[in-house]
Amino acid sequence: MEVTCDVCGKSFTIDVQIREREYKGEKVREHYFTHWECGTEYTGYYETAETKHLSEERKRIRDDVQLASRLGNEEEVRKLVKMDKKLKKQQLGIKKELEKYFKERGQNDR
Ligand SMILES: [Zn+2]
Repeated sequence: MEVTCDVCGKSFTIDVQIREREYKGEKVREHYFTHWECGTEYTGYYETAETKHLSEERKRIRDDVQLASRLGNEEEVRKLVKMDKKLKKQQLGIKKELEKYFKERGQNDR
């Protein structure tokens, strides 16, 4: 995938790398990529036991939504979509918290 660098404005191909970090004693896998020309680092997302669990739950909900809509069960679809929104909010909350945490400690703390 090709993106444009926010810092230098050149486009480059993403090469995602993973590094392990620690957050309050828990292992976090940070998926990130770097623009090799100017050295700017971008974090794609953080993976923890909790975010992994949430992703699995959301995947299951997506499957259930497909099934429920095929069966024409609109009430069930609405319920599932609501559940999914809640999980998404949780995911975003975790991401924000981790971003803040790692920002305060600096990028080079591994
Ligand atoms: Zn750049």
